[in-house]
Amino acid sequence: MMVTITDLSVRRGDFSFGPLDLSISNEVFCVLGPSGSGKSTLLSILAGIVEPDRGEILIGGESVRGRPPETRSTGLVFQDGALFPHLTARENVEYAAEDPDYVRKLTRLLAVDEVLDRRPAMLSGGERQRVALARTLAAGPDVLLLDEPLSSLDEPIRRRLRDDLHRLFATLDVPVVYVTHDQRTATALADRLGILRDGRLEQVDTPTSVLERPNSRFVAEFTGNENVFEVGLETGRCGRVARLGDALLRVTAEGDSIERLLAGVDGSTATVCAHPSRITVLERSDGSVDAVRSVDSEESGRDLRMSADESSFRIPVTIERWLHEGDTYRVFVQVDGGPELTATMSRRTFDRLELARGDERTVSIQTESMHVLDPPTSSRT
Ligand code: ADP
Ligand code: MG
Repeated sequence: MMVTITDLSVRRGDFSFGPLDLSISNEVFCVLGPSGSGKSTLLSILAGIVEPDRGEILIGGESVRGRPPETRSTGLVFQDGALFPHLTARENVEYAAEDPDYVRKLTRLLAVDEVLDRRPAMLSGGERQRVALARTLAAGPDVLLLDEPLSSLDEPIRRRLRDDLHRLFATLDVPVVYVTHDQRTATALADRLGILRDGRLEQVDTPTSVLERPNSRFVAEFTGNENVFEVGLETGRCGRVARLGDALLRVTAEGDSIERLLAGVDGSTATVCAHPSRITVLERSDGSVDAVRSVDSEESGRDLRMSADESSFRIPVTIERWLHEGDTYRVFVQVDGGPELTATMSRRTFDRLELARGDERTVSIQTESMHVLDPPTSSRT
């Protein structure tokens, strides 16, 4: 089954959605966007609840334009899964079901076997959401549309259901469009991720690409990449260098981002980002002192430290503070004379590093992980 959206747009009050072009195959396509970006609008159009002003939607090659919701075979699950209150969970699930075997499989996959004889009022939030999912899937939709189905649940229950959804999605053979404002949920579930901003898709790519190679500052920041900073471009004695605070980073390795840094004229600045998971705090014994050697800058007369490694940038920093976030540690480091950067790491790595506030350390960023957001622009006017 394929969903093909062409030139789709609608106005709702002051809000204008689209134009949007997108093809979704039998995959989990997550739409990630802030509140008010048009996520529910998109699903409402696909489900036939909202009629677009312009554009075309093909489901399995057939236009659904103008077709009422009940004829579209799109299964829609909302944040608070709506169930018939006077029916038991079982009756809800079987309501539009065709295949009793499939119903049994679904209720097992969604772990609601035990509660099937209860009415919705006697179910917890998580159980209600599971029953709503089973009910929608039991009807055998051609397309599954999910509107923030986990957002009303408490964290542990949300995590468990997310895990079960992940398992469930692997058994489905239909396009799944899952909209959420939660980056973790989106990246955990998505085969492909679309970032929605003001009714437009700003970037569509795999979760890894979106996280590590965002195409705008908005995408970087909305997906939790705090490390967006400027580097100055200069030509030094050793060739092209990028200045980050007091550090001079030799730009030599290959790669798209590096090409863009090399292309910038002297005196220009480039906006770059590096995902926190790609910033490595080095151990004291990791040769950081040798790797970062001192060179004289004729320009400023100051003693500047230059990265000597070719495949990674090595940057002297001071350890500022850290947050223990359960599975990971988020460590904030101050680049000498430059921006504050964030590095995330496992607890094991954190323990091994034996960090202390005020420690002078070195961080390493693989050159391919340094992603240029905005190509160099001249700062001299
Ligand atoms: P999201 O689901 O991403 O939070 P929505 O699609 O619900 O965003 O809403 C996007 C915008 O459309 C909002 O700014 C909202 O004010 C507007 N909107 C939503 N529904 C209606 C409506 N029925 N009439 C007018 N404007 C609407
Ligand atoms: Mg919404």
